[in-house]
Amino acid sequence: MGRKTVVVVEGEDASPEAMRPSVGLLQKLGAEIEWLTPPVGERGIEERGSAFPDEAREAIDASDATFFGSTSGPSAAALMYLRWGRRTYANLRPARFLPGYRSPLARPEGIDFAIVRENLEDLYLGVEGPIEDLEPIRPRSRTARRPVTDLGPGAYALKLITEAGSERIARFSFELARARKARGGPGRVTCATKHNMLPESDGLFRKVTHRVALDYPDIELQSFIVDDFAHRMILAPHELDVVVTPNLYGDILSDAAAALVGGLGLAASGCYGEDYAYFESAHGTAPDIAGRNVINPTATLLSAAMMLEYLGLVSLAEALVAGIERIYREGRILTPDQGGQATTQAFCDELLRQIEQG
Ligand code: ATP
Repeated sequence: MGRKTVVVVEGEDASPEAMRPSVGLLQKLGAEIEWLTPPVGERGIEERGSAFPDEAREAIDASDATFFGSTSGPSAAALMYLRWGRRTYANLRPARFLPGYRSPLARPEGIDFAIVRENLEDLYLGVEGPIEDLEPIRPRSRTARRPVTDLGPGAYALKLITEAGSERIARFSFELARARKARGGPGRVTCATKHNMLPESDGLFRKVTHRVALDYPDIELQSFIVDDFAHRMILAPHELDVVVTPNLYGDILSDAAAALVGGLGLAASGCYGEDYAYFESAHGTAPDIAGRNVINPTATLLSAAMMLEYLGLVSLAEALVAGIERIYREGRILTPDQGGQATTQAFCDELLRQIEQG
């Protein structure tokens, strides 16, 4: 297996403070990766007059994956390309409790599920505008029973769900449930939609998921209205395995799932397409703690572990996760969000020590 190539985009605010020591750690561990850092965001503007110059796009196209920090603006063009340009349609956000995480639950032990969020459709296609623009077609509200253009000045946003998009995210979820079952998981997919209020759009997503389920008789399918699901996710998170849901609900629910196990600083994420994937923590840029070297790098490092697995560097991925598990079990070197006083760098140094000790 040849050396893999990974593009690194550090992102903004506190994000580089988690990204730099994480990449540094992987380098020290001898990861068989060539790291590319094309000019993106502020650096792109300074050096090339563009936040996302052609050379950055070409670097992404020539690479095996991108490791992305969070963005609050300047790097967003790269993110849009990684998502819609590279068609990374499946956003996988695991919620797995590790002993030592500061969960608000009394019994979080054993929580281990994964939210699969459709990543390209739904309201995130960004079709919005003033209601008056709808005048030529005067769409009629099923619930208000009149044309929406009669409602007065305001704005609309279009929710789009396609059959093909629903099919591929459903297949991704069932394949994931099957892979998890092979490792001891229960083999269950839970579909969360608002099909009662949105029978056409969410109804289609649900219908396609049920149809795909027929190809996976070894996997159980459950289906809930998303508000009922949110309630169940808090009350009975241990029963969940793989959750499949349209874009917006997945975005919101995965932050809530992160809170269940211990917070955003622990929430990893990977976005997968047919021929490309990028990895970033699920959290934002944490601007309120920027410049203090206290951002928890766990979410970034667990995202890196997902990337290593995707690249086929499985034993390094496992070593990274095992090292993180040990750090939390011992509970000595933790960042402030988890009740400790360690800096980001100290956490990464300790992780290196743990992994080198094996
Ligand atoms: P976005 O809109 O991009 O999600 P946001 O500001 O709404 O950004 P975050 O940047 O995720 O959300 O931050 C929410 C809160 O969680 C902030 O108080 C932030 O400091 C905290 N936070 C997020 N990530 C981490 C982390 N890795 N370590 C410590 N605290 C974090």
